[in-house]
Amino acid sequence: MIELSHLSKSFGDTLVLDDISLQVPEGRVTALVGPSGGGKSTLLRCINLLEIPSSGTICLGDATVEFSPGGRPGWDAIQKIRRQTGMVFQNFQLFPHRTALENVMEGLLTVLKWPREKAKSHAMALLSKVNMEHKADTWPATLSGGQQQRVAIARALAMSPRVLLCDEPTSALDPELATEVVEVLGRLAAEGTTMIIATHDLRLASRVAEDVVFLEAGKIVEQGPARRIFRDAEQERTRRFVSSIN
Ligand code: ADP
Ligand code: MG
Repeated sequence: MIELSHLSKSFGDTLVLDDISLQVPEGRVTALVGPSGGGKSTLLRCINLLEIPSSGTICLGDATVEFSPGGRPGWDAIQKIRRQTGMVFQNFQLFPHRTALENVMEGLLTVLKWPREKAKSHAMALLSKVNMEHKADTWPATLSGGQQQRVAIARALAMSPRVLLCDEPTSALDPELATEVVEVLGRLAAEGTTMIIATHDLRLASRVAEDVVFLEAGKIVEQGPARRIFRDAEQERTRRFVSSIN
């Protein structure tokens, strides 16, 4: 379970996340939706501490870290949170000079110091989970965007994160290639992978997410079960947004 309490983030004088409190139960998928610039990416980046929140608390598994404007949490605390998160980016960010298989093995070899054969068989199992086993020895540049994203998902899963954070995972893809990625994420969701997915893609959100958080101008406007938010949101603002992207 992930719990964010009163999390805020400013860049200089600009408040980008304003008092965000949110719980993501283990095994559930939350979609972060809302207009561009609302703070979705910043929130994901704060959860894995690519950005350090200005104030508030993050509780993730056995790690609890408090933030305050004056101080920065210790390196150990930061690592403890980071180790429990995996991140998938809009533009994949695979290592270009490594094959698909090597991309997935990388963290196992360099961070976990696994022996090569063990890392290889684990990485192959993950590639087969995302239907990319047949492209194991291929360079990223020769793969389609949907294939690259599936390798990136396998790479993010390699370290067995407690939560998979996905930032617009289908936004750079043509509809057909996005479908492959939606299917893979749907399968992971059905297997009980905890995920937070920032997305404009209502098909992805409605197919994969159980909970929806609507974020605008750094604030949570509304949150609740996906079924309710998509059909019968309480807030007029949320209803308008949902109908505009339908
Ligand atoms: P979203 O992902 O919902 O489109 P973002 O989290 O990317 O929103 O951005 C939220 C706001 O924070 C925007 O106004 C953006 O300009 C600002 N922002 C994001 N990153 C930075 C940064 N590193 N420095 C200054 N402002 C930033
Ligand atoms: Mg974004």
